[in-house]
Amino acid sequence: MKLGEYRRKRNFKSTTEPAGNKRRRRRSRGLDKKSRKVSSPTGGRFVIQKHDATRLHYDLRLEVQGVLASWAIPKGLPCAKGQRHLAIHVEDHPMEYGGFEGTIPEGNYGAGTVMLWDHGTFESSEGSPAEGVRKGKLKFYLHGEKLRGEWTLIRLHGDERGKDPWLVIKSGVDSKPVSRTLEDRSVLSGKTMRQLSQSNNQWTSESESPRRISERE
Ligand code: MN
Repeated sequence: MKLGEYRRKRNFKSTTEPAGNKRRRRRSRGLDKKSRKVSSPTGGRFVIQKHDATRLHYDLRLEVQGVLASWAIPKGLPCAKGQRHLAIHVEDHPMEYGGFEGTIPEGNYGAGTVMLWDHGTFESSEGSPAEGVRKGKLKFYLHGEKLRGEWTLIRLHGDERGKDPWLVIKSGVDSKPVSRTLEDRSVLSGKTMRQLSQSNNQWTSESESPRRISERE
């Protein structure tokens, strides 16, 4: 089970993060036809969530074989060519996760505010993303609302704490840094981190993510 670790870490009775269960997937079968248009052997959807947890970080999630392969990036994606930032490879997340933002209640894994910071599609420029993740090198283009351009993920040697550290490197050419205003604005709701943390509803999702994302494209 690719989502086993994701589910083990969460109690779905106290967080409204999606469990990514089969029933849900079956219900959204109608949307799968749509998603095939962007899912290909060399690419798919991507999201970046800004996550104000124990430490603020950005979660980069790339669609790989029906789940969201995920990296937690404390400094976010670099913009200047050659610049590299640490990216910790974490557990795969269900596709529905890409449509959510809000607050994970205290006491739960990853407690804190989550903003849907950017989304769109990506393409791997060398082979399939699944192969890239396996081999520890993935060069890809992002076609997002905020970020456009090429980056490369490279796996480092694991550390003694059992983490799976990678680097995300700005490859290709420099990309334009995100403006201060856009830095603090959700692509889903237009809200700021402060507004998201103050809203009572814990999670925002008008529909399951595949439709949500494609509607905005
Ligand atoms: Mn996170």
